[in-house]
Amino acid sequence: MQQAQIDRLRSAVIPAQQLFVGGRSTQASGNARLDVVSPIDGRVLTTIADGDATDIDLAVSRARQAFEQGTWSRAAPAQRKKVLLKFAELIEQHALEIAVLGVRDNGTEIGMAYKAEPLSAAGTIRYYAEAVDKVYGEIAPTSGDVLGLVHREPLGVVGVIVPWNFPLMIGAWKIGPALAAGNSVVVKPPELASLTLLRLAELASEAGLPDGVLNVVTGRGASAGEALALHMDVDALAFTGSGAVGRRLLECSARSNLKRVHLELGGKSPNIVFADVPDIKQAAKVSANGIFRNSGQVCVAGSRLLVQSAIYERFMDELLQVTAKLRVGDPLELTSDIGAISSHAQLRKNLDAVARAEEQGATRLAGGEQIRIESGGNFMVPAILADVTPAMDLWREEVFGPVLAVTRFERQEEAVGLANATPYGLASAVWTGSLSRAHRMVRAVRAGVVHVNTYGGADITVPLGGFRQSGFGRDKSLHALDAYTDLKTAWIAL
Ligand code: NAD
Repeated sequence: MQQAQIDRLRSAVIPAQQLFVGGRSTQASGNARLDVVSPIDGRVLTTIADGDATDIDLAVSRARQAFEQGTWSRAAPAQRKKVLLKFAELIEQHALEIAVLGVRDNGTEIGMAYKAEPLSAAGTIRYYAEAVDKVYGEIAPTSGDVLGLVHREPLGVVGVIVPWNFPLMIGAWKIGPALAAGNSVVVKPPELASLTLLRLAELASEAGLPDGVLNVVTGRGASAGEALALHMDVDALAFTGSGAVGRRLLECSARSNLKRVHLELGGKSPNIVFADVPDIKQAAKVSANGIFRNSGQVCVAGSRLLVQSAIYERFMDELLQVTAKLRVGDPLELTSDIGAISSHAQLRKNLDAVARAEEQGATRLAGGEQIRIESGGNFMVPAILADVTPAMDLWREEVFGPVLAVTRFERQEEAVGLANATPYGLASAVWTGSLSRAHRMVRAVRAGVVHVNTYGGADITVPLGGFRQSGFGRDKSLHALDAYTDLKTAWIAL
């Protein structure tokens, strides 16, 4: 990836966007449009259609038709694999173009966006393509006079609703297994970052995915999103986003057709550093990245740091040094370590969280100010707040920004108590040189992921999902296929 290539792509004019329904770009039923505002300079890049219930209805009916026709849903798994592999290849071929488009939309630093968005999405699609002709049904261990078979069938029409931080990566975690299993899909992208998912649907078509199998309806959550959640002909809804919207979706399911709802929600993940950490420098560096990459707009961000008292000063020294070196800047410059905050509203929320933490008694050690105001974009210096207690909002509430809450502890049990003092349970980390302590902590911390001596980077081979109010869905790995298939029993008298 060269700066010159990025510079060429960043100025490309983005035409006004339509919906993608039934295999083609389609006008929305109404004329309402939403501005796409650049988080880099505040300018309007283009507009997207503000789709509504009528548009969702059309997309769901095209998806249903495609499903019933069976060209995809009943295709041999090896055939689906062929198309999905081509799809992955096309995403890779267009990776830089897609990454730059996405950064212009949501502000993630390009180095991270390139890997985490198109390349990760391509890898995910390929993983499920490769898996789908290797997953077998079952023969039940019955008595000899019957045959019990367990088939796995696609569900039908799957709705996908994702957030703006990594729309492609998270979208692919749902679209990949859903398509591989034979379902049709209707995606409602986040209103703050819709462009790359629209592009993804075009590439899927180009790869040979039959018309109507993958549809994208842009629009607001409260209208297009809710229409999808309430639709009587949607069989499942795969969601990543906030807890408040997750709750709403469960209600929508209860009020409509009891569609299954898979929820991946927020987190307030603890990063616990014991005094026997093998390499303090490395732990500080990875911890800084674990909270500040993509400006902390990462569901698994290690937003609560717990450091054992014996090394507290040394560790914090290292952490402050590495954080001071992180360059916040234009996300399309390769020299920037941290890009823009996705929206002005989110920036305000971050700044308010810092101010409130200070009011409640936390000590600001670094950052927390808005910078580059003259650019018109949304930029903020990563903030580190110490002496944060479980009574403070910053210990319990997700900010979803570059704001780190720090505290110290003496004993292991105390660390466990502090770590678990939150309604969430998404990710966590433990830094220690002791194998037994590492295993004991993996058991004790209530979270869907416990990293040991690292933070982040768990690949597609392992599941991702939360405990408690971080949700109960599981993206990634072969387990994700369970969310998009039904088990059917055949009981045959012999
Ligand atoms: P959000 O919940 O506001 O929006 C997520 C999506 O839901 C968007 O597409 C939005 O349009 C849609 N939506 C909003 N209201 C809706 C409604 N009433 N009905 C249907 N759809 C609706 O979240 P966000 O601000 O986009 O993203 C940030 C949140 O996402 C954070 O809480 C973060 O932790 C979480 N997140 C979780 C994971 C994970 O894997 N667990 C990953 C990334 C982000």
